[in-house]
Amino acid sequence: KQIAFSAIQPSGTITLGNYLGAIRNWVTMQNEYNCIYALADLHTITVRQEPAQMRKNILDAYASILACGIDTEKSLFFIQSHVHTHAEMAWVLDCYTQFGELSRMTQFKDKSAKHADNINAGLFTYPSLMAGDILLYQADKVPVGADQQQHIEITRDIATRFNGLYGNVFKIPEGFIPKNGARVMSLQDPTKKMSKSDENVNGCVHLLDSPEAIMRKFKRAITDSEAHVHYGEGKDGINNLMGIYSTITGLSFEQIEHDFEGKGYGDFKTAVGEAVVEELRPIRERYESYIKDKAYLEECYRKADEIALKISSRTMNKVMKKIGFIL
Ligand code: ATP
Ligand code: MG
Repeated sequence: KQIAFSAIQPSGTITLGNYLGAIRNWVTMQNEYNCIYALADLHTITVRQEPAQMRKNILDAYASILACGIDTEKSLFFIQSHVHTHAEMAWVLDCYTQFGELSRMTQFKDKSAKHADNINAGLFTYPSLMAGDILLYQADKVPVGADQQQHIEITRDIATRFNGLYGNVFKIPEGFIPKNGARVMSLQDPTKKMSKSDENVNGCVHLLDSPEAIMRKFKRAITDSEAHVHYGEGKDGINNLMGIYSTITGLSFEQIEHDFEGKGYGDFKTAVGEAVVEELRPIRERYESYIKDKAYLEECYRKADEIALKISSRTMNKVMKKIGFIL
């Protein structure tokens, strides 16, 4: 079996974008791949976190992702900071990553504009930590949303460069980006991607939102003045709602246009909201029971942490030896 690796930051409540762009594929890939997933808590401190809130976010995110359908019997789901090889590999790869290529990363540009008071070195070298996450497990496929395409590319570049110097150490991974749902946009500003760390809560549907909150957010979603449900230029809001609806229901855009012929945006927004409510309902219910059982959550991640350390240490040791360290 091929290996799939992916991770998500516990930087806030998991969103519908994270779910449709990535986590849904994490779940379906479990049957076909050896799946290794991580909660990328080391990545979150590139932005300032409040300690008590961070602890809560980590457990909440862990429980939410299990609730999406990650099966700990089939897949590894560990906590990045518990597996020390990740920080070690990040340092090594920092030394094989160029300033120039990091400077071209759009995520760095976006996030440093947003957090202008804290443009720290970690924010800048985020891609080499992420490259290490993936390369440690010799992953074949990396299921992520479209916004991570550039980080997958730099991971491949770093790995290829390293292999060029030292022989075949790393498997060169490929992104696994879904055709549908890869870029869910904010409901309040459909030119911007939906993000967990977004301050505008109305733009963002969270996995654990109540049905009422979800319906309210969809009803308030920004659209346009045309009042005709079809996909087109200048219709970012409607295009986004159609994308969400299509991803969840499996209906094609043509089918959706046909079904909503002659109907207004109000009806369409209600239909999209209801589809999302039903998709997320069982996830929220499972989350409610997981989050009450901290001992079970701990058992799950401790077991996975240990196995992840074993697997990743093989690559880490090989890398250290190749470079010239004495082990
Ligand atoms: P942050 O704002 O803190 O970066 P985020 O919502 O971007 O949070 P990440 O943890 O950075 O979440 O990304 C987790 C996964 O979710 C990645 O695979 C990413 O590509 C995917 N993802 C993030 N936002 C979206 C989105 N709007 N649509 C589809 N996929 C997304
Ligand atoms: Mg992100």
